[in-house]
Amino acid sequence: MIVIRTAEELRAFRPQLQAPVGFVPTMGDLHEGHLSLVRRAIRENSSAIASIYINPIQFEKHDDLAGYPRTWKKDKDLLANLAISAVFLPEDAVMYPEGFSTKVTAGKLASRWEGEYRPGHFDGVCTIVAKLLSLVQPDVAYFGDKDYQQLKVIQAMVRDLNIPVTVSSGDIIREPDGLALSSRNHRLPDEDRIRAPRLKAALDRVRSGLLAGGESPSILQSEREALESDGFIVDYLAAVDSESLEPVISLHESNEVRLLVAARLSSVRLIDNRAL
Ligand code: AMP
Repeated sequence: MIVIRTAEELRAFRPQLQAPVGFVPTMGDLHEGHLSLVRRAIRENSSAIASIYINPIQFEKHDDLAGYPRTWKKDKDLLANLAISAVFLPEDAVMYPEGFSTKVTAGKLASRWEGEYRPGHFDGVCTIVAKLLSLVQPDVAYFGDKDYQQLKVIQAMVRDLNIPVTVSSGDIIREPDGLALSSRNHRLPDEDRIRAPRLKAALDRVRSGLLAGGESPSILQSEREALESDGFIVDYLAAVDSESLEPVISLHESNEVRLLVAARLSSVRLIDNRAL
């Protein structure tokens, strides 16, 4: 596995990769969610690259950025074991050199949900993903369903900007108790870690209620209250059209529905989702 640290090195190395090239962008602290995408990139392509870069412009709070885990030694071993061709590991000065000022503005799909609670977040995500795609020039880029809205925002960007890449999505990888794997999970105090799987359980109950013919506002409200009485501060719990991300009231209105949730336990913000 080759470790590439600059844009120039990447440009020189890229022609050596056999097409099709699969690419998995990450922020590191790799877990099975990331590795499942890397395994697919390797399996489905002739060569594969991952990137590890903690993108400062997608964090609105400095302490969230400063506290983000940096675990390069562990990540390097995990990737090397999978026999990936290369990992791109740029410094901030490589991605945002002196004078950097052009940004991508995320489209309409970014306005609600995470976009409302994390202003500017998706502009930061789109900017870094556009830059990484432009540098790596992959045939296929892999993103997790875990960040469902992010996946949809990136698919729209790729379409709108005619970026020549296929976006492929990967299933959410979970702990045995249902909690979606996330770099933030380590930050949960023990008692919150025990409660955290209730987020996924709430999504499961909303699903059952809607499939049994219930109206979404009342089901969502009662599950929201149940989470709040369990100590969660719920930013949103929503049933949305899986493409437009607009709220859905009753099932017959929409072909495919996605359930989205974001909530905080102590100071740790968790997001999850599931298909109906
Ligand atoms: P991150 O390092 O958090 O930016 O995530 C990098 C990629 O891994 C994104 O496409 C995420 O959606 C994906 N990912 C993160 N956690 C999971 C998970 N539990 N299951 C599947 N994919 C995930």
